[in-house]
Amino acid sequence: MGERSFFVDPGTVREGRAELAGAVAHQIRNVLRLRPGDTVELLDGSGFVLLARLVAVSKEGVAAEVVERRRSNSEPGVELVLYQALLKGQKMELVLQKGTEIGVSRFVPVLSERCISRPAAADLERRLERWQAIVREAAEQSGRAVLPRVAALESLEEACRSAVAGGLALMAWEEEHALGIGRVLRESLTPSPVPFPIQGEGSEDSPSPLVREGAGVWAQRPRVSLLVGPEGGFSTREAQAAGEAGVRIVSLGPRILRAETAGLVAATLVLCATGDMGG
Ligand code: SAM
Repeated sequence: MGERSFFVDPGTVREGRAELAGAVAHQIRNVLRLRPGDTVELLDGSGFVLLARLVAVSKEGVAAEVVERRRSNSEPGVELVLYQALLKGQKMELVLQKGTEIGVSRFVPVLSERCISRPAAADLERRLERWQAIVREAAEQSGRAVLPRVAALESLEEACRSAVAGGLALMAWEEEHALGIGRVLRESLTPSPVPFPIQGEGSEDSPSPLVREGAGVWAQRPRVSLLVGPEGGFSTREAQAAGEAGVRIVSLGPRILRAETAGLVAATLVLCATGDMGG
């Protein structure tokens, strides 16, 4: 069986040593009952996998020394952001789990006109925590090297603005019949996955710039944003406003997909276009 892997916060590993606390330390000490000498994999968001040997395990905390650092090939060469209009019940959780497995880097829940699910602030807070836990579990299961993030709720207007600012922004709209997503992807993306992290970037002490949000290197990793509607779809007014904001309105084909299907299909198409689904 492979090493047990744990996502830890960027900056946890300094000068080749990790001081682990909280849930990760509890998992190692009390659940897995690992001992000094055992090895684990630490994922600190740098895109590298750090093989670490436990040197101390106590109720005060867990310490480990990094013995090997290797590049991971599990992160796509494109930063894929899925802006998903709020869905009822378990559907949102399905999108988060499957989207993480496919390779989505960030999820942004969106409130659009026809959202049936409109949680109150306290409920939304609880959901965001649960959603991040689902993403963490899916990321561990699928061997992601960087933990995808679930962002705060945005209005559709905010979503369009941030999506366009980040690069290629696509809105899946079932009323669009002329422009298919495939054509836009062929025009905009080339199948040349950027090896992530870029060789030579970063070190144990200072995580690769790729993980420091806003660092210049992120800008070199193309970002593609997808906007997917709720069960009732986007209104014509919303699609028009998105187009005026610079979002490309695209069809996913002549068949009407459920909202929870559409984002997963679009994400897969993007990562296939960039060569991130095995070439
Ligand atoms: N408005 C229709 C309805 O009420 O049945 C369909 C909404 S569809 C279930 C939910 C979302 O999935 C849409 O807002 C859109 O983002 C996406 N979607 C589903 N099928 C699509 C298609 N063929 N082309 C583009 N987007 C689609």
